[in-house]
Amino acid sequence: MSDISLWHAVARNRRDRPSLQGPAEADLVIVGGGFSGLSTALHAAARGLSVIVLEAEIVAWGATGRNAGFVVPNFAKMDPDNVIALIGAERGERLAHFASASGDLVFDLIRRHGIDCAADQSGWIQPAPTAAAFARVRARAGQWARYGARAEVLDDRAVEALTGARGYAGGWMDRSGGVLNPVEYANGLADAAEAAGARVFETSRVTALEREGSGYRIATGAGSVRAGRVFVATNAYDGRLNSRLSRSYVPLRVFQIATRPLPASVRQRLLPGNQCVSDTRRNLFTFRFDAENRLITGGMHILGPGAARRVPRAIHRRLAEKLDLPDLPPIEYAWSGMAAVMPDFLPHLVDLGPGLLAGFACNGRGIAMTTALGAVVADWAAGADPHGLPVPYAAPSELPFHAFVRHAPNALLPWSMLRDRFDESAGAR
Ligand SMILES: Cc1cc2nc3c(=O)[nH]c(=O)nc-3n(C[C@H](O)[C@H](O)[C@H](O)COP(=O)(O)OP(=O)(O)OC[C@H]3O[C@@H](n4cnc5c(N)ncnc54)[C@H](O)[C@@H]3O)c2cc1C
Repeated sequence: MSDISLWHAVARNRRDRPSLQGPAEADLVIVGGGFSGLSTALHAAARGLSVIVLEAEIVAWGATGRNAGFVVPNFAKMDPDNVIALIGAERGERLAHFASASGDLVFDLIRRHGIDCAADQSGWIQPAPTAAAFARVRARAGQWARYGARAEVLDDRAVEALTGARGYAGGWMDRSGGVLNPVEYANGLADAAEAAGARVFETSRVTALEREGSGYRIATGAGSVRAGRVFVATNAYDGRLNSRLSRSYVPLRVFQIATRPLPASVRQRLLPGNQCVSDTRRNLFTFRFDAENRLITGGMHILGPGAARRVPRAIHRRLAEKLDLPDLPPIEYAWSGMAAVMPDFLPHLVDLGPGLLAGFACNGRGIAMTTALGAVVADWAAGADPHGLPVPYAAPSELPFHAFVRHAPNALLPWSMLRDRFDESAGAR
């Protein structure tokens, strides 16, 4: 069993990039070489700004290289009506349009820049295990359709035919979602940003960020940059670069596994259309195939000693059970990553001072949302009023009791699992 992500292990377009040496200048410095940073770099360079990306490790080292590669153009837990109730009709509708267009944006960029990343805009499916959950996703599909989503309601037979999974009451599909290899997608974004004039440096950890004149001086171990604006795109890997920022989200450790390839006979029964699936359970069940027919799933689990060995095995057992696969091949890759979850599960732009912005668009739906966020941050870098952008913009809102709250999702998991079980036995009636 390997402990690096499947995607880093199989990526074909990865190459080393230099580290920053000596002094440099740019209109925009981006801290972090994940989807948020790289999409911003591409969109800002295309607008004619001079852009430098500083990545502490390598491109896609953070959540970007550790996710499941599901492109999902909507929010976890929040539907457009909830968003409107929370932030008002005008801002809520803008944000819903932003999200529902994000899947097409990803696949359009891939096509436009010829990014070879095993991309397939095959759709994202959300099955519902109970009649009550099916009623909720039917309403969800209707709401997203109002904002342009290619939403389809699926009855129980359609879910089984599309996924191969039995026992769901129904579900819905957004056809603008799909799958890709995230490390190849990120490296393709970095190549495209460089082709547009951006400079991307690896092994260049930002160690200091200070105000200098009307801009900033950003220091790494071996270099420094003077820039008019800075975008902090460090997500849950921020290393406390800004402590107020670190206390404004909940870091969530999520595990992923990929099995050895499945035989073609089984592959034909499961996901013949190559979609990705995440159901509505609180303890989310997800699955997809990669291009080599490895079955990929993930999940959270109770942490503690031995979690790195224990959790992948538990996730593997669950996969075999849920898909009725007693002969499921063993795990080939197991890895974990940190996702940054905002309390309202929505994307946010965080005002850290004049010309200094951070962004979160993750909440476990980051591929589409961070890509779309990059286009918005490029507008800000080019001088747009941040209050007019489609993503909420505010000073960091520090979570009370952060030292405890940060452990809540894992600590509360057994409770969530119990509630799932209760819903399923009650919903079956
Ligand atoms: C296990 C897992 C599964 C997921 N599955 C999915 C999925 O299937 N679909 C989906 O849409 N989303 C998924 N997500 C969420 C998605 O991966 C993230 O939303 C997205 O990758 C966030 O990208 P980012 O660029 O904001 O941050 P990251 O990719 O985390 O990048 C932050 C980068 O900042 C760098 N950095 C930190 N500090 C510094 C510093 N001081 N100087 C320089 N660089 C620094 C880090 O090295 C890192 O590379 C998943 C997340 C996890 C953890």
